[in-house]
Amino acid sequence: MSASILDGKALAANIRRRLVGEVEDFAAQTGFPPGLAVILVGDDPASAVYVANKEKAAQATGIHSELLRLPEQSSRETLLGEIAHLASDDRIHGMLVQLPLPDHLDAAEVQRAVPAKKDVDGFHPESAGRLLLGQEGGFVACTPLGILALLDEAGVELRGKECVIVGRSNIVGKPAALLMLSRHATVTLCHSRTRELSEVCRRAEVLIASVGAPGIIRGDFIRPGAVVVDVGINRITDPDQGEDLLSGQDKRLARFRKRGHALVGDVHFGEASRVARAITPVPGGVGPLTIAMLLENTLLAARRAVGLPEKQ
Ligand code: NDP
Repeated sequence: MSASILDGKALAANIRRRLVGEVEDFAAQTGFPPGLAVILVGDDPASAVYVANKEKAAQATGIHSELLRLPEQSSRETLLGEIAHLASDDRIHGMLVQLPLPDHLDAAEVQRAVPAKKDVDGFHPESAGRLLLGQEGGFVACTPLGILALLDEAGVELRGKECVIVGRSNIVGKPAALLMLSRHATVTLCHSRTRELSEVCRRAEVLIASVGAPGIIRGDFIRPGAVVVDVGINRITDPDQGEDLLSGQDKRLARFRKRGHALVGDVHFGEASRVARAITPVPGGVGPLTIAMLLENTLLAARRAVGLPEKQ
């Protein structure tokens, strides 16, 4: 069996095309565009790339976007002051502080400081609580929303299905588990202390990996015919690891040999795609959808702010 590819890049492009029209309609109705502000503290190179991609995507969709860069050594008071400033800015409907933060800043405190009505990342305790309680009115974290969008697009029925999620982070694993539960899947949430991980994973009709460990999910973890969603984004440089994890992907392996680095997921793609029914690639799977969902959440925040119905 060779799995079909769940093409996140193509789906994200479709969603972003639709959003261009919806943002235009919003601006025509209100006289101003939806607004998104992103705060970046420090010089983490990966964060700088993520933030630049978010800003570019927002602008391409017609969303007013502001990027505030603060130095690495910024104090708690400076950051909270900037958050408060953006919180009271009527042109900004959605805002987020890019993670990870430098060690001296408390991410939980920062997430609480972003007003719940502008919390387009869905990390505020109010948003997380609403998701847990099944209440409308909050925001759902962008990556889990993107996973659900991919599964829906592929017509994957979740009701009654065995869904195993590896990773219990607040930004991916836990909210993904709650979303799958809301669709009536039977959910198992695994983590670093889970025993017999491969056996637990083999129960999964839908397997979601968000670990941050290159290729930890091997072919023999996959139930034949399962749908596999790989959230992990890992940069590898070790030649042996590259030969292993890119085996069966000739073009990518050749590029790796030439450049000495590659991005891979948490799933061994070559092995898993021989067993699974459908699988997301890395890159080009969940990643592009995370940004598309951020744009969706920003438009949603703006529509709520002016009292428009949530959906057009
Ligand atoms: P975290 O580091 O916050 O969480 C990792 C989780 O994996 C933890 O729950 C940890 O368990 C679990 N884990 C670690 N080692 C093992 C193991 N050997 N067996 C089973 N479980 C294990 O990661 P994130 O959720 O933030 O991110 C995970 C990956 O997804 C990263 O590669 C990240 O770059 C990527 N990512 C991709 C996004 C996208 O848009 N595609 C968005 C966000 C993240 P424990 O809780 O016990 O420590």
